[in-house]
Amino acid sequence: MNPTALLYLEDFKLLNNKATVVEIRPEDSRTAIILDQTIFYPQGGGQPFDLGTIKGAQSLFTVTDVRLVDGIAKHFGTFEGAPFQSGETVECFVDAVRRVLHNRIHSAGHIIDKALVELNIAWQPGKSYHFANGPYVEYTGSLNGLDKDKLKADIERICNGWIKQGLEVKSIAMDKSQLTRRCQFVPSYIPEGKPVRVIFFGEFCSPCGGTHVGNISEIGAITIRKIKEADGAIRVSYDVAR
Ligand SMILES: [Zn+2]
Repeated sequence: MNPTALLYLEDFKLLNNKATVVEIRPEDSRTAIILDQTIFYPQGGGQPFDLGTIKGAQSLFTVTDVRLVDGIAKHFGTFEGAPFQSGETVECFVDAVRRVLHNRIHSAGHIIDKALVELNIAWQPGKSYHFANGPYVEYTGSLNGLDKDKLKADIERICNGWIKQGLEVKSIAMDKSQLTRRCQFVPSYIPEGKPVRVIFFGEFCSPCGGTHVGNISEIGAITIRKIKEADGAIRVSYDVAR
């Protein structure tokens, strides 16, 4: 089976399109729909999956989970009406309210990384959680006597200054050697010799497969909820205006 064409990588704003059903597959007690191309974001990189619907000639499929397994996007959910046929053309609709919120929360995580660089704080980005119920970004490093209240205020001031100013977010494919020259943080798992998608927030860039805002002004105000150090990791909990 060919890998699913992941259209959300190219166009964050595409939330409605047509696709062809490749396979309808029972998996455990669930039904997985495989399409030739998808606009649905599968859960990964700390960002939750998209919800939405897939409409066929005779039926409607409500998407309740999306996963990417070995290059194949699996849309899990339930049918109303007869199941799709392989080869059928269907129309996909991503839940825009949920996606836009995740774009904003996820992009805010990148902007916090950028603010730390601006503040000359050399922490290495680690795990991130960009779910609506309490997003955070984690770093390897030490607070080393930094005043947490001042740091919270500094990050908020810098991020919200950029958000107010507005800055276009761009996506550029580059290989690891270019990436190492351009970006501050390059995770070790990035493969050599393969184009990698890099997201630019002005000069600051980061390899990333998530979905983002088109301009950082769309993030809205960022609040830093808490900065906590435990077991060699610093967790910066934040939120965006709701
Ligand atoms: Zn990203």
